[in-house]
Amino acid sequence: MQQSIADIKHVFCVGRNYKMHAAELGNAVPSKPIFFMKPIHALHYMDHSEVPIRNDQGSIHYEAELIIHIGKSYKQEMKVEQLVDQVALGIDFTLRDLQTTLKAEGLPWLAAKGFRNSALISRFVPVASLPPLNDLEFHLVKNGEKVQYGRVRDMIFSLQEIVDYCAEHYGLGIGDIIYTGTPAGVAAVADGDQLQVQLGEQIIGASSIKLV
Ligand code: ZN
Repeated sequence: MQQSIADIKHVFCVGRNYKMHAAELGNAVPSKPIFFMKPIHALHYMDHSEVPIRNDQGSIHYEAELIIHIGKSYKQEMKVEQLVDQVALGIDFTLRDLQTTLKAEGLPWLAAKGFRNSALISRFVPVASLPPLNDLEFHLVKNGEKVQYGRVRDMIFSLQEIVDYCAEHYGLGIGDIIYTGTPAGVAAVADGDQLQVQLGEQIIGASSIKLV
């Protein structure tokens, strides 16, 4: 069953879930998962359309991420393979200069992470048609060049740890999605950039960036 944005309930995101990405931003490797959220209004499909993004608050970084879609009500002891019915890829856009200021001042991340169109999302792919979740790998392709590569098995916190932690602390239900963190290679986007997300060998979403 193909999901649409209208069916998505909550957008959870995990920060710092790959060692090399934590290192490239000078962040410590966390001892428990760091969660934040984006408003539903931040979502925008990677359907080959142009994505307008405001360009008046410093650098805008791409962060390509695997997205898991929760297809069942969470119960303790449930395996992540039972809980997740579909995956997608997406981009967690981040106003990096602003985020650095917010972090230094101890302020919430919403302004840097939750702005309109800050959550790109590809089409969903049923997990039944894919290799085991732990074997999934993905790329971000920018203007024809591979700029990020992620593997589920390189995550600091496994998908199981992520869903368990999220459910225990914040709740987790049918229709929720989780952006599971970005691997190394983040950088700023420029006007006109073509971004494609590739799951295994397959491109499953594409957007062109319009800075406005
Ligand atoms: Zn991210």
